[in-house]
Amino acid sequence: MASGLAPAQMAKGAGQDLVLTDPLTGLGNRRRFFHKVDRLIAERADDPAPFAIAIFDLDGFKPINDLFGRAAGDEILQQVAMRLRAAMDEHSTVTRIGADEFGVLYPMVFSEAAAAGRARVLIEILSAPYHVGDRTARLSASAGCSLFYSEEDTTELLLSKAETALYQAKRSGRGAVAVYTREMEEAAKTVTRMEQALRRAVAAGDVEPHFQPIVDLPSRGVVGFEALARWTDRDLGAVSPSVFIPIAEERGFIGQLSQLVLRKAAEAALDWPEHLHLSFNLSPSQLVDHNTVQQILSILERTGFDPRRLEVELTETGLMNDPASAERIIADLRSAGIGISLDDFGTGQSSLGRLRDFRFDKLKIDRAFVSSLLEDRASEQIVRAILAMAAGLGMDVVAEGIEYEAQADRLIEFGCAGGQGFLFGRPRDAEGTLAYMRDVIPGPMG
Ligand code: C2E
Ligand code: MG
Ligand code: MG
Repeated sequence: MASGLAPAQMAKGAGQDLVLTDPLTGLGNRRRFFHKVDRLIAERADDPAPFAIAIFDLDGFKPINDLFGRAAGDEILQQVAMRLRAAMDEHSTVTRIGADEFGVLYPMVFSEAAAAGRARVLIEILSAPYHVGDRTARLSASAGCSLFYSEEDTTELLLSKAETALYQAKRSGRGAVAVYTREMEEAAKTVTRMEQALRRAVAAGDVEPHFQPIVDLPSRGVVGFEALARWTDRDLGAVSPSVFIPIAEERGFIGQLSQLVLRKAAEAALDWPEHLHLSFNLSPSQLVDHNTVQQILSILERTGFDPRRLEVELTETGLMNDPASAERIIADLRSAGIGISLDDFGTGQSSLGRLRDFRFDKLKIDRAFVSSLLEDRASEQIVRAILAMAAGLGMDVVAEGIEYEAQADRLIEFGCAGGQGFLFGRPRDAEGTLAYMRDVIPGPMG
């Protein structure tokens, strides 16, 4: 017997309850959820009324578990369960269907809009702070919903549709709700096809770094290059890194992709003049992976590239997921002589607290501010404030996405030392980069 319980116990009474109950929260478990949905589908077989299910997944539960400890994590899950149960009306049921996943069955919810509305209310309820001992934790949740319309929808299918929707919700950030649509299914399939092609490309070594110059603004002298991953698939054509990097992250092979690109980038950079640095982007998930530092250092060692010429670019999202782990990784990189830059500063989940908690060598001002610098007074003030703050904290600054002379002039006037953008050069492959250097860098290379 799969459950390990005696048949007599399985049959009825307390035994049956145990098999269908989650011991931690006292809610029904995944099996109970399946039973309930199965039963409702049978009941609605001759009845045209639809119904809805929703899956809630806690955002950022793992770091809380790591940070506060398992016992606290358990306590939070119990509080989550209590809140959800208290929010159910007489028809609806909540169950715990995974570690930090909860399934809700809404027999009396008949439309997509109503399902999304219900889910939003629950997310709101789950977002209030949690008190664990004398500490406070904050969580949010994402939800995916699907509706039963006809007998073709089995329990498995409904659940998998809700999961597809949940995946979409998670992609659009924390605390989002999505209801399953057919287009979502198509989008999910496209992602899967792309994932397979990308995995093959990584295995075959077919992802290449291109290099974009970073300059000293007043003199226009090149100080280094940022490596940017490029992938061209035979069928899909050139795919943008802002599309394929997130896929590699979500599907868990960003580590391999990143190692490939770093190895090629470091090899190419061996041919550059010694004073030029190489900037390399790390993904958020690499800052929760304790193998990251070892992998980077061993690549540098094997290629013979001096760690003091490497800078890694991190984003605030990467620091947020698991600050303790990010801090350790940053400290280890720094003690190897690697510089740390904060990328895309000013967008995303910016927090000035981050600048106090972590030490960065460099801030990169996001392109969004630079592109509106000349027209928008707010952007101008923000850029000036960032520059003043960076100076006070002893950090270098690079403004990203400079396309026009007038933008460069204005940035110089504000005291910004570093710049990057199409004005100075687009990303080029290794060979094109050497040619670029012969053109712009005077001296022995010229
Ligand atoms: P990022 O690190 O902020 O890189 C700068 C992006 O801005 C690059 O886009 C670059 O081509 C673009 N850019 C530079 N100057 C200009 C300009 O003047 N105007 C405009 N409109 N755009 C400019 P790209 O190459 O498409 O990369 C997008 C993002 O993908 C990067 O943003 C980075 O977050 C990520 N990425 C790229 N390569 C890698 C990689 O090897 N590993 C990881 N983890 N992420 C990468
Ligand atoms: Mg970058
Ligand atoms: Mg950037």
